[in-house]
Amino acid sequence: MNLSAYKHIVILSGAGVSVASGLPTYRGPGGLWEREDIARIVEARFLPGSLPDLWRLYSQRRGHALAATPNAAHEAIAALQRARAGRVTLLTQNVDGLHQRAGSADATDLHGSAFRTRCTNPDCDLPPFSDDRLYETVPACPRCGSPLRPDVVLFGETLPEAALIRAQAALDGCDLFLAVGTSGTVWPAAAFVRLASQSGARTVLVNLDAGTGSEEFDEVHLGRAEEVLPILFSL
Ligand SMILES: [Zn+2]
Repeated sequence: MNLSAYKHIVILSGAGVSVASGLPTYRGPGGLWEREDIARIVEARFLPGSLPDLWRLYSQRRGHALAATPNAAHEAIAALQRARAGRVTLLTQNVDGLHQRAGSADATDLHGSAFRTRCTNPDCDLPPFSDDRLYETVPACPRCGSPLRPDVVLFGETLPEAALIRAQAALDGCDLFLAVGTSGTVWPAAAFVRLASQSGARTVLVNLDAGTGSEEFDEVHLGRAEEVLPILFSL
């Protein structure tokens, strides 16, 4: 793929990018939690009662993500950003911080970050802060005393407005859109590919399986992100 032909590239990454880093599965057979437990914990409507479990889950996720290392997919994206400085926008649905650790400092976190904590009190002026601590109990806000929570997007919550605005601005002006390790069917990927197409961009999907929605893309590469990206980027 001749990337030098493109002036502004937008990459949307999903869970498939982090699989090769060996992060454990949290749900399903062999997962760390029962499927029903996870489903309840990650639903915003069960807050604040779910906070003890939410912190238990996210403290585990922090621990596992810290023990993991970025893989060839993260490295390939970071290398492309270095090679094409200012011309590659990275949007990620992942909260594991592995893009940032691979060198993509400016990744836009669409679903928040497992490594940020914020206050649950909407009237509190404590800004979200970087946090890699593991908590046994629900921590309290140092400013107002309300419970703190991981700064991640739960089911039933909207994506952070600032991140969506950045994503939209990037998609408006892009001439190549790559969705990697995410199915093209779910929001926001499904909406992003349409926005990119409307901007006249070439759209490319890199994922293990094509699935429904992949027909929206001009080009589909089936395979593991850590194997396809280095070849695609000719690194
Ligand atoms: Zn507070």
